[in-house]
Amino acid sequence: MKYFTIRELTKSSTAVRKGINNTPNSIIVNSLTALIDNVLDPLREKWGAPIIVTSGYRCPALNRAVGGSSGSQHTKGEAADIRTLSDSREDNMKLLRCLLNSGIEFDQVIAENVDSQGRPDWIHISFTRARQNRKKRTTMKKIAGRTTYINGIKI
Ligand SMILES: [Zn+2]
Repeated sequence: MKYFTIRELTKSSTAVRKGINNTPNSIIVNSLTALIDNVLDPLREKWGAPIIVTSGYRCPALNRAVGGSSGSQHTKGEAADIRTLSDSREDNMKLLRCLLNSGIEFDQVIAENVDSQGRPDWIHISFTRARQNRKKRTTMKKIAGRTTYINGIKI
């Protein structure tokens, strides 16, 4: 672990506000460490600038509180939502391209809440030690207000 910390991937203002104990157990800590060592740190190195984690581990209660899908890899410590420092869609798109061109192994990348040009609001990234990583690419788009998942990412 070089750039990211377990604390950074577990702290949550929603958990604090709602009195939810989001402390990870040792299995979750191991998964978060693998996510940092295999994905987040190498990506941070390639990107060359700070990357903001907006959500990492979510215990089941926190996952429900934020409306996460049940069985989300966030509840296993296998996923993080990230964005650039500027948080512009243009820069988030550049970070997404950097990730997908890097050869970094991942289980799933979701370009989240993309606009008409495919630029993401944020990026969901996961890594697992439980099985082979799928290198699955998914786009999430709001169509007529409905959250829709589409296979593939246009970069
Ligand atoms: Zn996510």
